[in-house]
Amino acid sequence: MRVLKAGYEILTPISENGIKELQHIERIGRVCYKSEDKITDDGESAKKFVKMLIANGHEAMIEHGTLSVLFTVDRGVSHEMVRHRIASFAQESTRYVNYSKEKFGNEITVIDIENGICGDGKMKNTDADKIGEIHAEWLDAMRDAERHYMKMIACGASPQIARSVLPNATKTNLIITANYREWRAFFKLRTAPSAHPQIREVAIPLLAELQKKIPVVFDDIRAYENA
Ligand SMILES: Cc1cc2nc3c(=O)[nH]c(=O)nc-3n(C[C@H](O)[C@H](O)[C@H](O)COP(=O)(O)OP(=O)(O)OC[C@H]3O[C@@H](n4cnc5c(N)ncnc54)[C@H](O)[C@@H]3O)c2cc1C
Repeated sequence: MRVLKAGYEILTPISENGIKELQHIERIGRVCYKSEDKITDDGESAKKFVKMLIANGHEAMIEHGTLSVLFTVDRGVSHEMVRHRIASFAQESTRYVNYSKEKFGNEITVIDIENGICGDGKMKNTDADKIGEIHAEWLDAMRDAERHYMKMIACGASPQIARSVLPNATKTNLIITANYREWRAFFKLRTAPSAHPQIREVAIPLLAELQKKIPVVFDDIRAYENA
């Protein structure tokens, strides 16, 4: 059994300083105001314009920008992610993938709960020994699940039947493609202190990276700072 940390990879190429992405929105949005004459090559007009759109709630214009992100998370987190209805998804299938095969190392992969525990406000007073005990118990449960899964496959069960014993912690790859407006909604909900600590584990660093790479679009989202 493999134990992995959660992570993500931004699949959509982002231009240097994210200016082209803003200029694309500016080009489209200025049609509304017939202010195309105000476009400047250096991207400064685009920054100002997109900032104005967001401040005025004219977010329909930022739907013209999209991003695809590949997440490596557990199936519990992926279940929360796929509730975002305005996004498009592609997810590793537990119906077709057979983890008993050589190419998966004849083992299941699970996402470690360690970072989730650290980020869980309700567990912040739990002492280190108890956390060690909780983690050891979890590992035991994961190994049990793996053993049952492999045995069922060995007895002739198809992966789509044997998957019934796979835990929520099973690692999955999930790609989300969404427009910037939807990503903003996603980040507001999924970086907030009320969100699950394991979705925050990927949502907070992804938001921080996008804030560095694309100016303006995500700058006002600071939900994670209210922890
Ligand atoms: C802290 C937290 C706890 C949660 N707990 C539960 C739970 O216990 N049980 C549960 O079932 N779910 C739960 N959820 C999931 C939640 O109900 C939503 O499914 C999820 O957060 C997606 O939110 P959304 O619908 O706003 O987003 P999206 O589906 O991404 O939609 C984005 C936005 O588009 C608009 N929109 C989308 N669809 C419609 C529509 N049909 N009509 C009008 N406007 C629309 C809305 O403005 C919406 O905010 C929880 C979510 C959070 C963040």
